Amino acid sequence: MTPSLPLSEVLAALDAGAAERGGPVPATTPAALADLVRRKLGAPIPEKGTGAEEAVKTVVGLLAYGAADPADPRCAAHLHCPPLPEAVAADLAVSLLNQSLDSWDQAPAAVTMEREVVRALAGLAGYGEAASGTVTTGGTESNLMGLMLARDAADSGARKVVFCSETAHFSVRRAAALLGLGEGAVQAVRVDGRRRMDVHALDAALAACVEGGDVPIAVVATAGTTDCGAIDPLPEIARTARRYGAWSHVDAAHGGGALFSDRLSPLLRGLADADSVSIDMHKFGWVPAAAGVFLVRDAAMLAPLELRAAYLNPADDEEEGYDGLLGLSLRTTRRPDCVKILTALRALGRAGMGERVDRCHDLAVEAAHLIAADPGLELVAAPVLSTVVFRYRGTDAVNAALRRRLLAEGRAVVGRTEMGGRICLKLTLLNPAATADDLREIVHAVVAAGHAEESETR
Ligand SMILES: *Cc1c(COP(=O)(O)O)cnc(C)c1O
Repeated sequence: MTPSLPLSEVLAALDAGAAERGGPVPATTPAALADLVRRKLGAPIPEKGTGAEEAVKTVVGLLAYGAADPADPRCAAHLHCPPLPEAVAADLAVSLLNQSLDSWDQAPAAVTMEREVVRALAGLAGYGEAASGTVTTGGTESNLMGLMLARDAADSGARKVVFCSETAHFSVRRAAALLGLGEGAVQAVRVDGRRRMDVHALDAALAACVEGGDVPIAVVATAGTTDCGAIDPLPEIARTARRYGAWSHVDAAHGGGALFSDRLSPLLRGLADADSVSIDMHKFGWVPAAAGVFLVRDAAMLAPLELRAAYLNPADDEEEGYDGLLGLSLRTTRRPDCVKILTALRALGRAGMGERVDRCHDLAVEAAHLIAADPGLELVAAPVLSTVVFRYRGTDAVNAALRRRLLAEGRAVVGRTEMGGRICLKLTLLNPAATADDLREIVHAVVAAGHAEESETR
């Protein structure tokens, strides 16, 4: 029987917190907010409990007040999407039923749901029937899995080298370190004027690696860099990797969502030439985190993950069909994050997801126009997917400070990065409900904050 949940308390605390916040982020400083959280919480482990209703009201109320709310169009810094309500609601059921995918007897239906969602996404990515994969916590875990399989597929002995572009995500280096290859095993390949991996430079680097007696174990292409959405030339990279016997992995953590769009999916041509792919449905996919997906071209490639544990998957159980997903993942206890992904995909369909992707792309194009037309701003990188990189025409220090000013005033959450050695600002537009007026408001707020910083430091 379903227990009664203090849901009305959660919803009331969300409303109260958001009303008190009154914007995309609370108008306060990090120190003041930390003080407030500590004061309101008191002892995190009180000797005597406060009861369910009070605990929910206090903790959720604080969470909501102190949130950077991705549902507010002025919250536009990161790959941090407003989640679909139906996916959030389905996720509540996942918490309540607390299934775990490692063995069949902890998640009888969910193991098939994950297999189905992986099969469907693999098909969308262009893989054939032999493909397989698993739901992960995100691009970091997916990239680790790709490089682990690449390492295990390579000959042992010689020094192993991984290639990626200089703008690839830092998780590639971290994975190499975790896998015992060392961060130094990752070689950065230069990018062209559009921040895409230079395939000639890759070819030359691979040739030099082999000539030096080292083994190129993997080439990681990025489909949608974190900062500006640049997409490496996927077919050429896969072909080049294959020529040198290296595993090819595509980090589409950011750009994978383009697969849903008729207009943008051609950008991912060649994705399925790769041996493995990372896609994050919690970025350009509107599913609450964590909702990563790791795909491989052929299920046999996952063999290094196979594991027999007497208490989870005895062989005779498996032969009778009682098999969980232990052997597909690095994790043991594993929440069925496939449920919220399936719910989102079913509710919207491919076309509905694609419309949202297109809408966010359109918003980014519109934002780029507004920025280019503003004499106070400089467009640095036009959108490929849904990010725009730009600068306030002022010093690096002013660009950095104006972003903090917008946070302290609770006016906007704008991203920051570096490009061409300069501090840049960034909008990541993942809210399909945002309007052109919202974009104008953000752009005006940036310019006003830049003026304010300059007049204060003058
Ligand atoms: C976000 C991102 C990652 C890391 O993914 P997580 O889901 O945060 O673990 C890796 N690669 C790229 C290109 C990303 O944008």
